[in-house]
Amino acid sequence: MWYSAGFGHMPEDVAGGASMRLDLRNVRGPSQAVVRAFPASAFGLDDGFTIAAPVELGLAVRKDGDKYSLLGRLVTTVRRECSRCLEPFDVPIAVDIDVRYLPHRVNSGEGEQEISEEDLSIAFYRDDEIDLGGLVREQLQLAAPMKPLCGDGCRGLCPICGANRNLEACGCDTTWRDPRLEPLRALVRTTVDTGPARKV
Ligand SMILES: [Zn+2]
Ligand SMILES: [Zn+2]
Repeated sequence: MWYSAGFGHMPEDVAGGASMRLDLRNVRGPSQAVVRAFPASAFGLDDGFTIAAPVELGLAVRKDGDKYSLLGRLVTTVRRECSRCLEPFDVPIAVDIDVRYLPHRVNSGEGEQEISEEDLSIAFYRDDEIDLGGLVREQLQLAAPMKPLCGDGCRGLCPICGANRNLEACGCDTTWRDPRLEPLRALVRTTVDTGPARKV
């Protein structure tokens, strides 16, 4: 499912499918709106994460000679695995896109463009096409946290019995106690047990 909007009719390169290709020959005028939606199934599982909702791209494509800038927003939902409790959870994603595309020069190489490798907002296109699928993958990789957590308070798995401590209190004693202090602890327990009742 796709559609285009904005500056008049935009001829599409592929009929009846969500094309991941943005045909730059169709970009006319200083700015053109491109809106596309890709089903989650359009992305493979080998991307390191699972996309759990349609990917919606809303872009303003600006043309400056043979350079193009894509400015807009990417909205979807990504399913991750919590790094503490290993349960899958959904992360709503809404990232701003601001990428400049330069022509990939096969003969003279990309070095000609004098671009530092750290500049993540620079990409290359070839054959008059921008691969929107690649753009989506890259933006989602950038947005993905290294250690995803299902919640700030995730208690993770019990290191002794493996129970998900968000779901059950397994009762394992995971605190390390210095055995040399055991006599002192016994003394404290006795004092508390026999002492006056008090609220803690
Ligand atoms: Zn978790
Ligand atoms: Zn346990």
